[in-house]
Amino acid sequence: MTTLPPLEQRPRVGNEEALTKLTIRKGKEARVAGGYPWVFAGEVYRLPPAELDGELVIVEDHRGRFLGQGLVNSQSNILVRLLSRQRETIDQAFFEQRLRQAVVFRTRYAGLRGGSDDACRLVHAEADGLPGLIVDRYADYLVVQALSLGMSRRLPMLVEILVELLSPRGVYERSDVLVRALEGLEQRSGLLWGALPPDDLIINEGGMRFRVDVVNGQKTGFFLDQRLNRARVRDLAQGRVLNTFCYTGGFSIAAALGAATEVVSIDISADAVRLGALNAGLNGVSERCVWREANAFDALRELEKSDERFDMVILDPPAFTKNKGSIPGALRGYKEINLRALRLLNPGGVLVTSSCSHHISPAMFTEILASAAGDTRKRVRVIASCGASPDHPVLPSAPETDYLKCLFAEVH
Ligand code: SAH
Repeated sequence: MTTLPPLEQRPRVGNEEALTKLTIRKGKEARVAGGYPWVFAGEVYRLPPAELDGELVIVEDHRGRFLGQGLVNSQSNILVRLLSRQRETIDQAFFEQRLRQAVVFRTRYAGLRGGSDDACRLVHAEADGLPGLIVDRYADYLVVQALSLGMSRRLPMLVEILVELLSPRGVYERSDVLVRALEGLEQRSGLLWGALPPDDLIINEGGMRFRVDVVNGQKTGFFLDQRLNRARVRDLAQGRVLNTFCYTGGFSIAAALGAATEVVSIDISADAVRLGALNAGLNGVSERCVWREANAFDALRELEKSDERFDMVILDPPAFTKNKGSIPGALRGYKEINLRALRLLNPGGVLVTSSCSHHISPAMFTEILASAAGDTRKRVRVIASCGASPDHPVLPSAPETDYLKCLFAEVH
């Protein structure tokens, strides 16, 4: 893809006179004033009419003080997703500037500075000041996901800007996610611009090569957020490695290209395991890799029963909880797999354990590990406590953006 032309500075004036104003209830304004990106439906005095859904509104406190402006949806519990805390015009030039800033951020911090890596998250929604919008780059293709009504309506304009900025070969939409129902949106996917990503689309990550199925894969095709953690696994792996919830083998290939002598990978999805085996071939490590299509809970139990031992166990399950009500069940699930993984490790082995649910805070996750260590009477020392790679930045005002936890721990 092309490098960015210099950013032209455009003076902006506010256009707030023309916009509807929503007033946050007295006593409810502190979070938004402190940088939180959402206004909830229960926090305003009066909901706007449905014909404004998807449009720009101004948010004020009860004294009429300007707090910001954003896109509204009266059908959603997240009533307003804030775009700006300034009195500025939100037009095509505004979105162009935000997209440019997002790309520049990746060039600076996400390791795309002309190296061989050619995949990363270019836009991480709220964290890039573009709430509800995800843009991932896979080599010459972009994959977009619109999670809000406001962004969904603006996709044609956003795609036009992205094409202009980055000259991709194609732009594919993967808005086939359940959360869109909360915005009153249907699930949608398909080609938006240019060429269809080929079946054998390959990305480069730190010298590893992965085939990415943009059309049918999970999320937008690949778990880009674990990129630096895969590099850490490559550094730390040795001996026998077990990778559960392996998807297309990101951690497996990293371990096999490190000092692992054998890597056993398990996933419940036949498509994921099939791509994993192809990825092993692409990286010349097939002879060290074993692929199993199985439920990881069952597999961990069986491996324990048959007294198998490993020098590294990797746990990277899907989010066990997507709402507060199911937190207790999720805690039990995380505890169970961590407990079994600890029992499967040789003395001095390394546990790599992740949770991507934002309902489980980093402190809660460390507590789960402590509790599993206590039950197994193992001595566990955390070597590194990591999060998502920097192309998934965290907003300090919104703890839920700090969703990915990945602990590396040595176990005796
Ligand atoms: N570590 C991977 C991403 C894992 S995503 C990477 O770096 O690419 C979570 C994976 O868990 C998905 O591939 C999903 O198919 C799998 N999964 C979900 N439930 C499972 C279960 N019960 N047993 C095994 N795999 C499961």
